[in-house]
Amino acid sequence: MSNTVDLHLHSTASDGTDTPAQLVEKAVQAGFTTLALTDHDTINGVLEAQQAAQRLGITCLSGVELSVGTHAEIHLLGYGLDVTNDGLHQFLAVMQRDRQIRLKAIVQKMQDAGYPVTWEELLVYAKGTPGRPHLTDVLIQKGIVKNIDDAFDRMIGKNKPFYVPRRKQTIREGVEVIRAAGGIPVFAHPGEFKMEQQNLSALIDYVCGEGVMGIECYHSCHNADTEAFLVQTARRKGLFITGGSDYHGTKKEGLHIGDGTKRWATATEDTQRLLCAISEAKQA
Ligand code: AMP
Ligand code: ZN
Ligand code: FE
Ligand code: FE
Repeated sequence: MSNTVDLHLHSTASDGTDTPAQLVEKAVQAGFTTLALTDHDTINGVLEAQQAAQRLGITCLSGVELSVGTHAEIHLLGYGLDVTNDGLHQFLAVMQRDRQIRLKAIVQKMQDAGYPVTWEELLVYAKGTPGRPHLTDVLIQKGIVKNIDDAFDRMIGKNKPFYVPRRKQTIREGVEVIRAAGGIPVFAHPGEFKMEQQNLSALIDYVCGEGVMGIECYHSCHNADTEAFLVQTARRKGLFITGGSDYHGTKKEGLHIGDGTKRWATATEDTQRLLCAISEAKQA
């Protein structure tokens, strides 16, 4: 195998279906040697993942994926964070609270429309950070939707009847909390916006102006053209280049650990650069 790095993985601490330890075990079996656990708005799975990684002799970076941005939602990856940092814990607690408020509002909206869903049922599926995918589990179990895409397409995706927005922190706030915890903030999967290159370039300039230090150039939703454009942009701006699959276990059917990173020929060098910056941030 060419690439053995996957820096974007979700566990049961958010909306993945493998526990952090299971995830690391699967990655090791598949031949990966450097990972990062990047659960949505939580670092609760990181210690378990790192213990499993140590036991199995591979590297697992601490990580998080923050949903931020008050206009459009941007996903911000944070790598190499000190998971004992107080400011980070406080910030994540606020995000968890806002997620609950929003999801409860969605459940209420569905109840008002006559759907038999409850917050308690959602909690059966949410072991960590609750999200719309856990509500989807309830909807699937009750035969209200066919699958997760059906739920987002017809009911709870943006601009759909039961969508409720969530109060969001700004990109800068996300960047600052990551940096204060000794981490490196990276713009996650910029290709998901499916923008023209000129607009994407402007968005990257804006996000970098808020202090983001890297671009996730390789991701399962990027094609070769997007990758090439993002790598070129990252090199030109002196940003870190990262990559990862966004594996969610059975929550994203057919998506495997390492998907989207096959063309990442410079994974070793790019990751080494990131690791060096993390250890420098620690010493600072
Ligand atoms: P939330 O965290 O509550 O905003 O829900 C968003 C999560 O749902 C993201 O982690 C996505 O990976 C996941 N998801 C799964 N299927 C879809 C879909 N069809 N559209 C948008 N998000 C989806
Ligand atoms: Zn997710
Ligand atoms: Fe994301
Ligand atoms: Fe993700």
